[in-house]
Amino acid sequence: LSRAVPLQICTFCVMDTSDPEIRFDEAGRCHHCSGQVAKIARLRVEQRYGSEHLPALLERMRRAGAGRRYDAVLGISGGVDSAFLALSLKALGLRLLLVHVDNGWDTHQAATNIRKVAEATGFDYRSYVLDWKEFRGIQLAFLKASVVEAETPTDIALAGALHRAAASEGIAVLASASNEASEGILPRLWHYNSKDMRYFRHIVRSFGGPPLRRFPAFGFATELYEKAVRGVRIVYPLNFLDFDRRTAVATLRDRIGWRDYGGKHHESHYTRFVQSFLLPTKFGLDYRKATLSSLICVGQATREEALAELERPPFEEKAVEEDKSYVALKLGLSSDELEAILARPGRYYHAFPNNERLLSAAYRLFKAATGRRT
Ligand SMILES: [Zn+2]
Repeated sequence: LSRAVPLQICTFCVMDTSDPEIRFDEAGRCHHCSGQVAKIARLRVEQRYGSEHLPALLERMRRAGAGRRYDAVLGISGGVDSAFLALSLKALGLRLLLVHVDNGWDTHQAATNIRKVAEATGFDYRSYVLDWKEFRGIQLAFLKASVVEAETPTDIALAGALHRAAASEGIAVLASASNEASEGILPRLWHYNSKDMRYFRHIVRSFGGPPLRRFPAFGFATELYEKAVRGVRIVYPLNFLDFDRRTAVATLRDRIGWRDYGGKHHESHYTRFVQSFLLPTKFGLDYRKATLSSLICVGQATREEALAELERPPFEEKAVEEDKSYVALKLGLSSDELEAILARPGRYYHAFPNNERLLSAAYRLFKAATGRRT
């Protein structure tokens, strides 16, 4: 898809024409980083970014947790962002319920890291285990559809499980480890809104997925209910902490014996397969470009460092072969069947029925009515 387009790289970050929707200004700067730098400045003004606003955020979280057992629920993956956030909030005196969604793809290291974080913080910890047969069918449907959103089933399950845990404990705040430093830039075509249930259900139904029974579905309507009726707030504390991914890895390693995986979100076998192999080969899409560009926008990496890192291939041949065999085995495919699916042309979400326009209108309405973004 991307190879047909002449390559142009942004002069400020490292995003390029592998995002078909990228736009450049006269100076060769792309709309992603221009928008992201402006967004961070705006978030600072709105007091939703920057360590100077940390005390107010903590106060809000404590007030929400007053009289309750927990101040917030935090989803923990075994990756650096959520581990660092758990330790930081512990040090700041907050009481968290840690929830991990086990989708069957955790690496051994992820499990060890999660255990270490739970032990070091003393926080209560729950594992939400997905019904594997059902979940496998959903993942396989997305893989067969050959859409970018191979990880959307996991994203939905995570949101659904966290909200369920919060509801069952009367928790009003969800602490998210998402942050502008490592995830500020993400093109729409690289990850379409996971809360569009029309799109989700269409893919599951049309590509041989199972009827949804135990899967913790979580779409826009549920999100709206949680926020407007239950009053649930999602906070992004990493945006208020001194969070630098590189030093965070070292801190975690020294303090709790945490181990690095090498890549962002490589705590899951499937995520590693999707981000380092499936997306680069099927869509010419390299997630590292979005991560590195986000880091550049917050001054945590230089463009030269990013370009040097991108010189390295997104995957190692040997690791890919192992990942492919593992993925085929787990999904119940022969290696020929997997290869046939991998060879199908990639498709973007807009080739399928979706509620994009309805959802954008709803998001605008919600913001106008509450002054908040969903
Ligand atoms: Zn740019």
